[in-house]
Amino acid sequence: MIAQTAFDLIFRNALLRSSAAPVDIGVKDGRIAAIEPRLACEAVEVDIGGRLALPGFVDSHIHLDKACLLGRCGHNLGSVSEAIRAVAGMKRDFTVEDVYTRGAKVLERAIVHGTTRMRTHVEIDPRIGLRGFQAVKALKRDYAWAIDLSLCVFPQEGLTNDPGSDELLVQALRDGGETIGGCPYTDTDPNAHLARVFDLAQEFDVDVDLHLDFDLDPSWWHLDEVCRQTERRNYQGRVAIGHATKLSALPPERLKAATAQLAKAGVAVTVLPATDLYLMGREATYNAPRGLTLAHKLVDNGVLCSVATNNVLNPFTPFGDASLLRMANFYANVAHASVRDFDTCLDLVTELPARLMNLTDYGIEVGKPADLIVLDTEDSRFAIAALPEILMGFKSGRKIFERHQAVLFPPSESGKARAVIPHA
Ligand SMILES: [Zn+2]
Repeated sequence: MIAQTAFDLIFRNALLRSSAAPVDIGVKDGRIAAIEPRLACEAVEVDIGGRLALPGFVDSHIHLDKACLLGRCGHNLGSVSEAIRAVAGMKRDFTVEDVYTRGAKVLERAIVHGTTRMRTHVEIDPRIGLRGFQAVKALKRDYAWAIDLSLCVFPQEGLTNDPGSDELLVQALRDGGETIGGCPYTDTDPNAHLARVFDLAQEFDVDVDLHLDFDLDPSWWHLDEVCRQTERRNYQGRVAIGHATKLSALPPERLKAATAQLAKAGVAVTVLPATDLYLMGREATYNAPRGLTLAHKLVDNGVLCSVATNNVLNPFTPFGDASLLRMANFYANVAHASVRDFDTCLDLVTELPARLMNLTDYGIEVGKPADLIVLDTEDSRFAIAALPEILMGFKSGRKIFERHQAVLFPPSESGKARAVIPHA
């Protein structure tokens, strides 16, 4: 039994995915100090009421710098190259304030949807210079009370073919870039692009997170080169590839081989359902392929995967609310996930992206930061299916948001108003 006054705060009756029955969570100095069925202490209490507590969602791939652009461009774009061209044209005019304002909007939505960790890609090239990077750095600082934001700097327009990008990338890595990205499919020399990205990763001792491919033609790809570079440089467990839509176009035998290759090289895959579904398969006039790589199946075969947001309300994805619970639901539905896969689908927006980002302080465990969100459900198995409300969130034991439950007003015999909370 822990002595009284040992805690600053106790969460009572929290259902954890790892516990059969609700537990109490004691918090001291912003960290979890104890997890037990019944803690005796007189600290401030928050009653979770047997509801599900998670350590927050982890968005391992989002673009805050080019979010919320729908009002500025045509809405009839439908291909990857058109989307890249449209943003390239607009970003020359981006100011630090502009990027900050649009990014803050998305960040605040993500926070109230329960995201506690996020990796944002930030475009670095001569068109935008370091303005986007500066804005996102300011967002990281200003929202540190609610979310851990990590910056992945990357050359969206290519590297070897875009003079000036390399120097800017180096500057960003010196000045707070925490991960390096790459985009070989926009470079005239994809292998040289990858080699330079890996050189910089080693020089600055940062992880690699690539935009790998974005089409459904499996006759060529850069995946072999990524795995080769990863193994040659001993970077297993430090490399992720985003989209990887070609994997969705492989027949079973080739997919099996690619899966084994990814698992062996320790290369993770991030699936971005909203964008992949929007941009892929548009040339088909019927029975359109959806271009969605089946992350939960890759996970079953030893590949680390995540499902993430990518873009919000821009030419790449004219949808989005930065809710990862909704995204996991969307993914599971389109990916033909069965009920037995639902747990993995929840992992894809929590534990697995935390591992992909090599976060060491994530999870509801003694010694870790008291970061948690509360979902209005008493059964974790169906959280992604039923989309429960996310009622509140805490970071380091401090409440960062709460959501009030909707109320029904059924008529009553007496004519007296009554309010009823709908069943969760
Ligand atoms: Zn992306």
